[in-house]
Amino acid sequence: MKEGKGISEASPRIGIFWVVGGKLIVVAVPLTEGESYGDYIVFGPGHHKVWDDLQLRGQVPRDCEFEEFPRGRVRYDPRDGTFLLLADACILRNKSMVRQIMKEMHLQGGITEIDRDSHYRCSECLNRTNGENNGSDEE
Ligand SMILES: [Zn+2]
Repeated sequence: MKEGKGISEASPRIGIFWVVGGKLIVVAVPLTEGESYGDYIVFGPGHHKVWDDLQLRGQVPRDCEFEEFPRGRVRYDPRDGTFLLLADACILRNKSMVRQIMKEMHLQGGITEIDRDSHYRCSECLNRTNGENNGSDEE
């Protein structure tokens, strides 16, 4: 285990993540390395950029696009000291995966809100939504 030195291992992190073939891939930094974005502190690099890096390092399939897999992100709201975890609905349905994400990013239940984000829909979710027509936001 090689982690950054100097910063507490247990300090909460912000970042982005994917679930690729059932495996959680988290790219995250401590709050001190976050960037201001509006009212929030966020992880700077986007999914697209980070996915390219992961591909170069051989950590994710090279022949797949970043939006094919379930993904999400965590940001921090300094106004009330809470974290917001946004993710694909198929990740949120998997309670043990959500627990794993929170554990890897050192997030505590009491100060972390969890919600889905309609931007984050993997190939499977998109197919499902098209078939189901469950009257959600888009048509
Ligand atoms: Zn999905």
